[in-house]
Amino acid sequence: MTDTIITRFPPSPTGYLHVGGARTALFNWLYARKTGGKFILRIEDTDTLRSTQESVDAIFQGLEWLGIDWDEGPYYQTRRFDIYQKFLDRLVAEEKAYYCTCSPETVEAMREKARAEGRNPMYDGSCRHKNRQPQPGAVVRLLTPDTGSTRIDDVVKGPISIPNTEIDDFIICRSDGVYTYNFAVVIDDLTMNITHVIRGDDHISNTPKQILIYEALGANIPKFGHVPMVLGPDRTRLSKRHGAMGVMEYKKMGFLPEALLNYLVRLGWSSGDQEFFTIEDMKHLFTLEAIGRSPGVFDMDKLTALNGEHIQKSTPEKLLPPLLEQMTDLAIPHDPDDTRLPAIISLLQPRSKTLLEMAQQAEPFFVAPSTYCEVAIKKNFKTGSLEVLKKIEEKLTESEEESETAMEALLHSVCEEMNLKLGKVGGPLRVALTGKGQSPGMGETLALLGKERSLPRIRAAIAFLETF
Ligand code: GLU
Repeated sequence: MTDTIITRFPPSPTGYLHVGGARTALFNWLYARKTGGKFILRIEDTDTLRSTQESVDAIFQGLEWLGIDWDEGPYYQTRRFDIYQKFLDRLVAEEKAYYCTCSPETVEAMREKARAEGRNPMYDGSCRHKNRQPQPGAVVRLLTPDTGSTRIDDVVKGPISIPNTEIDDFIICRSDGVYTYNFAVVIDDLTMNITHVIRGDDHISNTPKQILIYEALGANIPKFGHVPMVLGPDRTRLSKRHGAMGVMEYKKMGFLPEALLNYLVRLGWSSGDQEFFTIEDMKHLFTLEAIGRSPGVFDMDKLTALNGEHIQKSTPEKLLPPLLEQMTDLAIPHDPDDTRLPAIISLLQPRSKTLLEMAQQAEPFFVAPSTYCEVAIKKNFKTGSLEVLKKIEEKLTESEEESETAMEALLHSVCEEMNLKLGKVGGPLRVALTGKGQSPGMGETLALLGKERSLPRIRAAIAFLETF
């Protein structure tokens, strides 16, 4: 036994990595990172009908995007059957497990009888002490105690005790030779020296059975922590019908992985009243003791606000690659080496809650508007706008400078000469340059577009207004 903390994330590859799974992975990963321990990835693919390589890849992709790295694995359960068999043989040899030849109909009749007598539906142990040799079509059952109770010292929920009379001799290997989840998981956790099993509380009913397997093997029992589920806004368990589930969908929507992780860590864990966490903060502050007992409710607006905060606190350098990806996805023509990009990003950082929004707002810096937004036209193209644009065009053509200060001075001189407020000048100019009713300030925009891009846009708007 070493003192190293070893945690694991063992997804079943029957779909993408969803936000609930990502949170479980995150808690285990953080705990390992916080304690200088180890985090293991294991693919629980014994359900061969529902497991797919596509899902395995999607899980890797999701973890990679989130930056959740593992120290060992990925292990695959389907490649570990010889290990499971050794432990199974040992249990049978020690009469702690046995082959059961009862037909499914017989077992169902026993359950029915128990139900009728007001007891829990259970297998009655008929084959106990009968079969120590493999039997055709037999399952293997664990011989469970008839008295006493099984106790879970749950690090999240506190102590839980289950009378052993409620646990029947459950199947550990099916008649087709496939080991059940409860058995494979215990043998894996045992042979991988897992010290802490942090998982969703949908697994809590499996835990007493798993503890009985450890006990039958005379093995150390890891610490268990069952984390409450993530709920949708209607307080039912989060599912597809609540919207996006796969973490990669959040990437598409323009979320930063660190913002999603920050949101997920807070959904079930807290550190004082701190809401904003960098990954480093999380790694330093995470504790199992501070995992909450009540379920977290997934709130898209909160996630979006937090994402905006992470964008604001990030740097153009870090935001550049994911922004370029968004622009490519939106088919916004751009030169990835455009030297204006860092300045465009810092300009848009305080104005964007997502990278998708940032990409949409960045578009006018790369492409001239092909149409003008109807609402923006109504609000900004007024009597006199044509003259304003002509004046700006004239001054900009003459201007030898393109800096933001020079551009602001230029706009102020237009205001002064025409005796107009800045809005009357900036409004039509904004539509001319961006096609939209909202954008960063006109001085900054003109400076970033430069004369070369701005003049043709202003001239196009003049032509538009002349025929308006
Ligand atoms: N494969 C199980 C799941 O995806 C893992 C449960 C566990 O952590 O033991 O739910």
